[in-house]
Amino acid sequence: MSSLVQLAAPASASPAPVAGLLLDTFGRIHSDLRISVTDRCNIRCFYCMPETGAEFAPVSSLLTFPEIVRFAKTALPLGIDKIRITGGEPLLRPKLPNLISALSVLPGVRDLAVTTNGVLLAETAQALYDAGLRRLNVHLDTLDRERFRRITRRDDLLRVLAGIDAAVRIGFDVIKINAVAIKGLTEPDIVSLVRFAKERDIEVRFIEFMPLDGQHLWSLDRVLTADDMIAALTEEFGPLAPVADADPRAPATEYEFADGYRVGFIASVSRPFCLNCNRLRLTADGKLRYCLFAREETDIRPLLRKEGADEALEAVIRSTVWQKWVGHEINRASFAPPQRPMYSIGG
Ligand code: SAM
Ligand code: SF4
Repeated sequence: MSSLVQLAAPASASPAPVAGLLLDTFGRIHSDLRISVTDRCNIRCFYCMPETGAEFAPVSSLLTFPEIVRFAKTALPLGIDKIRITGGEPLLRPKLPNLISALSVLPGVRDLAVTTNGVLLAETAQALYDAGLRRLNVHLDTLDRERFRRITRRDDLLRVLAGIDAAVRIGFDVIKINAVAIKGLTEPDIVSLVRFAKERDIEVRFIEFMPLDGQHLWSLDRVLTADDMIAALTEEFGPLAPVADADPRAPATEYEFADGYRVGFIASVSRPFCLNCNRLRLTADGKLRYCLFAREETDIRPLLRKEGADEALEAVIRSTVWQKWVGHEINRASFAPPQRPMYSIGG
């Protein structure tokens, strides 16, 4: 039995705390907020969106920038210090730099980042930087144009590469590449992405394929595991050692080559890290979720649209975290994928 389970209090039996940090019943403190600003996307990665017929929330249901900022202002004093803007594709949200400007100056924001597929990055990177953004995660699974097209059902690899080059040139403090690894498809990309990133002095984080696709294409035998990838990288570049001082609450496990270059693995399937989870998610249409895989969510849009409901808003944030389960059950027979696919939750 894991120490997490031993720590377990009767889930949600007692009321959520009314003060202090954002705590759940398993003792996990929440400091990382993912905010989705749209569920739309300009490409169609097969592990996230269907090729046609994706369903989107009506535009009128999307949180406005003042509503998002209001949420952040309520959450920051509760111990949130890291905010990641995601989607869908966040660069599709009109005037995104205005939101970045508003969030980057809020007291308590230690770390503000955007996760993007990079297609629109070449033309938006400078405005995002000028608005105060310093951290970017750019999603890129392959450097092969045909494989990129097969994965995303679009021919935009060159635009993504131009976006990464623009971000490097502008001088963002941190640029990371997020690569989803799929068995039987992206094996040839593991080594080439590391080489590509190393040449630009940026880090790659390989993400195991998770059951979050709209069409339920996931199966365990399509997961290229962190161990598989470490073996391939070791064969090419020599030994990779786990980084001892890495943040245990970060989703990526960091590894280092002999020359100090690091890669990360988000091994949600083969090495679940729920025990250390500190993340809370706000969907573009104002639903608060304590887990990517949660089967329940809290609708906070009415409170965000109501004047003077700050105390109620804080109470709902606290109680949503308090309801958090011990963790997802991808590796169990009882696992049921969430009703919302990845693009509509916000990764
Ligand atoms: N559109 C942006 C992008 O692609 O980076 C932001 C949203 S996307 C949902 C966030 C991250 O989720 C991406 O980096 C992508 O690699 C990851 N992702 C999407 N579907 C996934 C899946 N089924 N399993 C693992 N990671 C996934
Ligand atoms: Fe779009 Fe990102 Fe989903 Fe790919 S992973 S379809 S880029 S939201």
